[in-house]
Amino acid sequence: TPAIELDNVVKEYTSHGEVVRAVKGVSLAITEGEFFSLLGPSGCGKTTSMRMIAGFEDPTQGVVRLHGQDVTSVPPNKRDVNMVFQSYALFPHMNVWENVAFGLKRKSVETAEIQRRVGEILEVVDLTGREKRRPKEMSGGQQQRVALARALVNRPRALLLDEPLGALDLKLRQAMQIELKRIQRDVGITFVYVTHDQGEALTMSDRIAVMNDGLVDQLAAPREIYERPATKFVAGFIGTSNLLSGTVDKVNGSTAVLALGAADRILAPVEGAVSAGDTLELTVRPEKITISTEQPEGDFSVVQGTVSEVVYLGTSNSYAVVLADGAEITVFQQNAHDSTITAERGDAVWLSWQPQHSY
Ligand code: ADP
Ligand code: MG
Repeated sequence: TPAIELDNVVKEYTSHGEVVRAVKGVSLAITEGEFFSLLGPSGCGKTTSMRMIAGFEDPTQGVVRLHGQDVTSVPPNKRDVNMVFQSYALFPHMNVWENVAFGLKRKSVETAEIQRRVGEILEVVDLTGREKRRPKEMSGGQQQRVALARALVNRPRALLLDEPLGALDLKLRQAMQIELKRIQRDVGITFVYVTHDQGEALTMSDRIAVMNDGLVDQLAAPREIYERPATKFVAGFIGTSNLLSGTVDKVNGSTAVLALGAADRILAPVEGAVSAGDTLELTVRPEKITISTEQPEGDFSVVQGTVSEVVYLGTSNSYAVVLADGAEITVFQQNAHDSTITAERGDAVWLSWQPQHSY
C-alpha cells in the first residue's frame, strides 16, 4: 500500500467571484520511506497539493488516502503527517528544547518520555548542546533544523516540507540539502518535499512529480526525468536543453532523417506516422553533444555550425554554436583537459550525438 495517494484530486478556489483551478486532476502514489518531490514553477499547484495531503484544504473532487485509508474528510490533527513550513514559525520566547518539546507537552506525554524523545531528535538534527538557545541566537540553518526536530519529535509516518530551504542562502541551502537527505535516511520516514528548484529536487529525491499548471507532467526518478523528459515543458524546466527543428528528408523504419544545412544529417527516433516533408522538433542535452573541428564519420547525428562563444569553466567548457538555420546550440564538454579539441570563437565545427540521446 502506498503511504500517500492522491486519486484524481481537483482543487478550485473562488476568489473575487472567479473560479481558480489550482489543481486540475492529480493522481500520484508515494511509497513508504520515499523521498518524494513535487517540483514546478511558482503557481503550478504544489502547495495546494501538499495542503490537501495534510488536510488543510478539502479537495473539490477526488480522494486522498494515507496508508490505504480514505482521509479526504479527516481533519489535519487526525492525520499521521506533519508539515514544515518555509517560515519556520518557531516560538521566539522559547529555547530550542522548549520549542521541540512543546507539542509533546500539549499532548500530555510523560516528562521522562519527553526528555528522551527530545534528546534523541536533537541528536538527529545535530543540535545537541544547543538546547538553551533561543531562535534569534541561531543561524537560519539551525532554526530550520529546530523546525524539523519539532515536526519529527511527533514521529509522524510522513513529513511534508514546503520549500523549507527557500529562506536560506545558496551555500547554506546546499549544506542543508545533504543534511535533510541524511536525516530522512536516519529516521526512515516518508518525506514529501515541495520545491521550484530543479537542482534541489534532482539531488535529493528518490522520485519527482513535475507539475505544470495544476497537473503532473511526469512522475519518475531524477535520472529518467533528466534524460527522458516526457513533455516539452519538462525538458525546458529541467536542466539546459537544445531545441532543434528540421524537415523530414526520409523515414527508415523507426528513424527519421532530418535535413538541416547541406552537410547536416539528424537521425530522429520516431513514433507513429511521420512522412517526408513533415517538420520535427528534437531536444538534445548539451553534455550529450561532441564538438569537433573535423567532420566525424559514423552512424550518428551530425550538424555543422560556427562557434559564437566559448566559456572556460575549469574542468569543463561550454560552447555556443550557431547552425545554418540560425539556431544556437549549447555544448558542454566535460573533463576538458582530456579532450583533443579546443575550438575558438569563429571556428567551423561539427556537432554530433547518438540518436538515442535526442528525444
Ligand atoms: P505553488 O505552491 O506551486 O506556487 P499554489 O498551490 O500556491 O502554487 O497555487 C496554485 C494556484 O492557486 C495559483 O494560481 C494561486 O494563485 C491559486 N491559489 C492558491 N491558494 C489560493 C487561495 N487560497 N485562494 C485563491 N487562489 C489560490
Ligand atoms: Mg507554494
